[in-house]
Amino acid sequence: MVGYMGDKATMIVHHLAAMSSDCRIYHVKKENRLYFVPDTLDQARKENFGTCKYCNKTTS
Ligand SMILES: [Zn+2]
Repeated sequence: MVGYMGDKATMIVHHLAAMSSDCRIYHVKKENRLYFVPDTLDQARKENFGTCKYCNKTTS
């Protein structure tokens, strides 16, 4: 189970377990989807992704 998915088109990372319809994850093209190793928000931030305000609001 993947926790986070980055959208390379917007450089935004989504938390899949908490995603909202506002995230529009299903509109992200397959080639723009990026997964992180390790699968953490810290790793996404290290790769210069911003956090999605809809699904990452419980984390800071
Ligand atoms: Zn999101």
